[in-house]
Amino acid sequence: MRVLITGGAGFLGSHLCDRFLAEGHTVIAMDNLITGNADNIAHLAGNERFTFIKHDVTNYIFIEGDVDAILHFASPASPIDYLELPIQTLKVGALGTHKALGLAKAKGARFLLASTSEVYGDPQVHPQQETYYGHVNPIGPRGVYDEAKRFAEAITMAYHTYHGVETRIVRIFNTFGPRMRLRDGRVVPNFIAQALRGEALTIYGDGSQTRSFQYVDDLIEGIYRLLLSDEVEPVNIGNPGEFTIKEFAEIVNRLTDNPAGVVYKDLRTKDDPQVRQPDIAKARRVLNWEPRTTLEEGLKKTIPWFREELGRRGEL
Ligand code: UDP
Repeated sequence: MRVLITGGAGFLGSHLCDRFLAEGHTVIAMDNLITGNADNIAHLAGNERFTFIKHDVTNYIFIEGDVDAILHFASPASPIDYLELPIQTLKVGALGTHKALGLAKAKGARFLLASTSEVYGDPQVHPQQETYYGHVNPIGPRGVYDEAKRFAEAITMAYHTYHGVETRIVRIFNTFGPRMRLRDGRVVPNFIAQALRGEALTIYGDGSQTRSFQYVDDLIEGIYRLLLSDEVEPVNIGNPGEFTIKEFAEIVNRLTDNPAGVVYKDLRTKDDPQVRQPDIAKARRVLNWEPRTTLEEGLKKTIPWFREELGRRGEL
């Protein structure tokens, strides 16, 4: 296949580039590098099956020749990113998805949308199944991301129904691993960086809120299977292992031998979901997929990467 990956220089996009290249496909990565980082794909320079195009996908996308699949992963994705880049977040979810779908239609390509557990908002149903419609505040701080992704799902289904585009929608739950941005403000890079510096981990609120963290390789496997499957309706991909943020902090401190403990800060933003856990029965059924990596195993692969990254920046 010849595959276009938007957001190809991002955390998830770059791992997808690696996977598709490893499977023998040809990959075009597209990114405007506002939250993506060229370092994530630097190792692919010189690979004759890989091309990088710097482009903002909210503008018309031109690709010469055939395209067999488009994976639309371009978007700011962490709460502090979309607080800083609210308009760009809305534009890439809405206009960018429209442009990427237009390209899919023109090329007869299969289209896979990176959606998110944020479509469920601060959920009142637990764990979250794909059939849950969500509990989203459109004008809250997360609204720019949540509503853009909800619109993106709607336009993806519309292109499927009205234009016959072969579409897939993955709802991605919290994912971590190498190449996450040190300063994207999310709990995994924050805690690991603080722990490696021997600082106390900053727990926002009382730490009773929960998240379910999946290791990036598991997600990439789920996405690869979904693209090749026949499933048009959204599929959750996440690890059902659920932890409070306080428990998560204790695990990070233990794995890094950090004696500094935790510090509680009143920094929870409005609409920060209190619980989040994927119901993955559908992924098990239609993709024969389930996560293989436990939280601790994933952290043991991720912590060394952050140690190196901090070292490269002279911050350790
Ligand atoms: N959080 C925290 N300390 C940090 C960063 C985040 O306690 O240094 C909390 C945050 O308030 C949220 C959870 O950890 O409840 C997960 O936040 P993250 O930004 O990773 O992503 P989210 O799942 O909220 O999109």
